[in-house]
Amino acid sequence: MLEKQEQISTLRQDIARCRICRDAPLKGDTDRLPHEPRPVAVISGAAKILIAGQAPGLRVHESGLPFNDASGNRLRDWLNVDRDSFYDADKFAIVPMGFCFPGYDAKGSDLPPRLECAPRWRDSVMQAMPQIELILAIGQYAQSWHLGQRRMKTMTETVQNWRSYRYANSGVPVLPLPHPSWRNSAWLKKNPWFEDILLPILRQDVERLAF
Ligand code: SF4
Repeated sequence: MLEKQEQISTLRQDIARCRICRDAPLKGDTDRLPHEPRPVAVISGAAKILIAGQAPGLRVHESGLPFNDASGNRLRDWLNVDRDSFYDADKFAIVPMGFCFPGYDAKGSDLPPRLECAPRWRDSVMQAMPQIELILAIGQYAQSWHLGQRRMKTMTETVQNWRSYRYANSGVPVLPLPHPSWRNSAWLKKNPWFEDILLPILRQDVERLAF
């Protein structure tokens, strides 16, 4: 147990010091992260649920608190948990696909998670958390990593296919979710089965594994 805590503590420190996207970006100088990296992730030795998100937005970058925004409010509603429970590291590990705010594109939208992050850190993070019993894969990047070739062509098809990942015979069960951003409000309206059928299952899982 002590060994595990030390492993997690060392990993947290290594990630906190990471400056790859500023100092050695994969695509070269023109793709350098334009601000000081601030990795935001909750790596837990006790939580049974992993929230695998996308990447921090500006507000999360500034506060250092994952999902400290309107998307987080919607996600907490989906999980049916309050802020105290959500930020209890014994209940939820929160590890996005990119740990640092990636900046904005020309249209002012958040850029995708940095390409450098998951290949560098994700295997180590998953190895440090063997107790995880359910992965909530939020959005296409987390679904792509955690489902691999099992992922369907589109995010909608992947979420619709949730039973085959949630009840798979091997590996850690995965529940694919859309991103809880306001940008997906139209998607939620168009896909009422998500709130009617999938959310009750998600809430049962949270109740069983986190409380
Ligand atoms: S996004 Fe990941 S790889 Fe890039 S600097 Fe931050 S922690 Fe390092």
